[in-house]
Amino acid sequence: MDKGYFAGMNCTCMAYSENECCCDADWTEPEIYKLREQVKEYAGVAYQLLGGDTAAMDDLYDMLREDKFIDDCDEWIEDDT
Ligand SMILES: [Zn+2]
Repeated sequence: MDKGYFAGMNCTCMAYSENECCCDADWTEPEIYKLREQVKEYAGVAYQLLGGDTAAMDDLYDMLREDKFIDDCDEWIEDDT
């Protein structure tokens, strides 16, 4: 992502928002790009911690997709405080 990027910066049709735009400009919020980069970074760290075990990475993704895992995290956070 370019520094100074903002949603709709490449728009050439003078639209104020994505639903007015007819030139296919990128209206993705900068925050989304930041979060995507963070997810990639964390996935890389997790991959290293798991010793490059792709099967373990798949298991981790499966766990993260389950709501139960999120609930467990909340419990752990509450336990720490
Ligand atoms: Zn446009």
